[in-house]
Amino acid sequence: MPDPRPNILYIMSDDHASHAMSCYGSRINRTPNLDRIADGGMRFDNCFCTNSICTPSRAVILTGTYNHINGVTTLDSRLDGRQVTMPKLLQAAGYQTAIVGKWHLGHGGDADPTGFDYWNVLPGQGLYHNPEMIEMGERKTFPGYATDLITDFSLDWLQQRDPNRPFFLMCHHKAPHRPWEPDEKHAALYEDEEIPYPETFNDDYSNRAAAAAAAKMRIDRDMTLTDLKQPTPEGLTPEEEKKWKYQRYIKDYLRCVASIDDNVGRLLDWLEAEGLADNTIVVYTSDQGFFLGDHGWYDKRFMYEESLRMPFIIRHPRSIAAGSANEQMILNVDFAPTFLDYAGVAIPDDFQGSSFRSLLGGTTPDGWQTSMYYRYWMHLAHHHVYAHYGVRTLHHKLIYYYADALGTPGSLDDPKEPEWEMFDLDADPYELKSVYHDPAYASVKAALTEELHRLQAQVGDVPYDHPSARGA
Ligand code: CA
Repeated sequence: MPDPRPNILYIMSDDHASHAMSCYGSRINRTPNLDRIADGGMRFDNCFCTNSICTPSRAVILTGTYNHINGVTTLDSRLDGRQVTMPKLLQAAGYQTAIVGKWHLGHGGDADPTGFDYWNVLPGQGLYHNPEMIEMGERKTFPGYATDLITDFSLDWLQQRDPNRPFFLMCHHKAPHRPWEPDEKHAALYEDEEIPYPETFNDDYSNRAAAAAAAKMRIDRDMTLTDLKQPTPEGLTPEEEKKWKYQRYIKDYLRCVASIDDNVGRLLDWLEAEGLADNTIVVYTSDQGFFLGDHGWYDKRFMYEESLRMPFIIRHPRSIAAGSANEQMILNVDFAPTFLDYAGVAIPDDFQGSSFRSLLGGTTPDGWQTSMYYRYWMHLAHHHVYAHYGVRTLHHKLIYYYADALGTPGSLDDPKEPEWEMFDLDADPYELKSVYHDPAYASVKAALTEELHRLQAQVGDVPYDHPSARGA
């Protein structure tokens, strides 16, 4: 009798914001193959990461724990593979396991992938064109485009697997991470179009804490020649130049996304051709969101919506109603418990997330989470974003910029004055005006501050040691 447990095909890209997916109502592109997953399953509209940066988010997904627990707080961290991870537990339960593509959790010794029968990963960030990859510890260079190659190697592994045992495959794309290098096939896409501009393209960063204005991720000022791939034309007004840079950036970003979409289509076609679509859970997500010109920015890191929100679409015809959408809050720390739940594997007590399998079945459990804890540790590194933590509820967000490296590797030791920010997400969905000091929000502020400290204690993190950390 064949093993009834579902296969799990987990496809994750790097920095793909949900507002560049047509199943999320994108105004700027179409993603027909990603839409096949959403149309055949469930779209989550409130999936959030607990730390909006590549390496830490990946560690959360693998371990089911927050970064202060799994030790991967910044890009300089390595994942200690001796800890319990979700792939190890699936492997021990008889799943065939593999990871292909971006790893970005360190290399060598305890940092190499563990819990995988097969691994073939990019070193560090990896290259878009003719990438070097590390296949089971051996470095090799492959001709071709990373997104195609990662899909090729995923299909190769699927083809040679034992069909009598279920599989768990993590197909991790490098794209559409900076520097957004498209392949030949998509290089001319959008060439004669003007991509629409986001509502907050000309944000002036007023009415917020100092952190927003201090960040160095502005399209008009901070993009490099590597990002833009050609010199800025002369004779443009500042406004024209900003628009020109946005078009250069967003078109290359969307071209990289188009290649992902094509390649996801290849995997879906293969599942259908093999008769595996019915009992394979297919997930498409990204390690965090991204600013697509929103607030005049590229990049991520902030607890603001565009960066905090992850796309999450999931298909499994046997257990998930086609074409459904869910507004409940799920977090990247919940992925591991959910996959273990589907595999019939006991969820370890020290995993911090919760399985959302009931949500997939159309039932919201009593007491399901309505708030989440966030922390970004990389004070001032790379894009001059202040270290912060905060809480998001269904309607509000409270952020505390403690703005201190605290000696964390991957942060810069130059403390700034701590500051609070609060947003009414219903009245101000783009987070343009902090209401932290607005007397009309005094009771909301008190409740959110209490909730922040409750969640912080619950996950085992500690408040910043400063008089202002208790809230004003
Ligand atoms: Ca990323």
